[in-house]
Amino acid sequence: MRVIGLLGGMSWESTAEYYRFINQEVRRRLGHQHSAKILMYSLDFELVEQMQAAGEWDRAGQLLATEARRLENAGADLLLLCTNTMHKVAPAIEAAIGIPLLHIADATAERVKARGLERVGLLGTRFTMEEDFYRARLTEHGLAVSIPESQDRVIVDRVIYEELCQGSILSESRQEYRRIITALAAGGAQGVILGCTEIGLLIKPEDSPIPVFDTARIHAEKAVESALAD
Ligand code: GLU
Repeated sequence: MRVIGLLGGMSWESTAEYYRFINQEVRRRLGHQHSAKILMYSLDFELVEQMQAAGEWDRAGQLLATEARRLENAGADLLLLCTNTMHKVAPAIEAAIGIPLLHIADATAERVKARGLERVGLLGTRFTMEEDFYRARLTEHGLAVSIPESQDRVIVDRVIYEELCQGSILSESRQEYRRIITALAAGGAQGVILGCTEIGLLIKPEDSPIPVFDTARIHAEKAVESALAD
């Protein structure tokens, strides 16, 4: 079994879920007392969020590259960046390490296609929904991607940073997300990507009229598949 490196803390609310999902998947596959070999580095998210808000992506990339190298040096065989948004700086991280970075959008697109779907809605931070680094990666896999309209994107983004990343799960926000997902489905989306690793804390499959793809869970399961591959 290979050692899974987790670059997390963005936020820790979802990194804790990664730890659980990865171990659950190892147990599902191997049974008995098996559990995952994991090394984690958990950042102080305040610093990262300040860099995002200030548009200091190069600085953020350098910071994450340094911590990724720390995980490699400690013995990680593969790396997961436990956030969708910070995949904006995935190239800087990949340039700094010799172990594979399992891209969250690749793992998710594979799962969507395995379900036979082509048109998906995408929820995430404003960066993930509006910029090319994430959507283009999905469309390269042949998916058609739609996002909520502008005022709904503001709601989705605000709930992520002001609530979910701070451990607050509110039923009013769940109602808003349900409304937004229903609108995406009405617009033709066959499934919805929860493209922020905290959204799975708020939205479960039963909250959606279309299949949901929880990126944290999918990413975690992909890591186990890689860690156990021959
Ligand atoms: N965890 C979130 C994501 O998956 C948002 C926090 C961040 O900006 O990294 O995008």
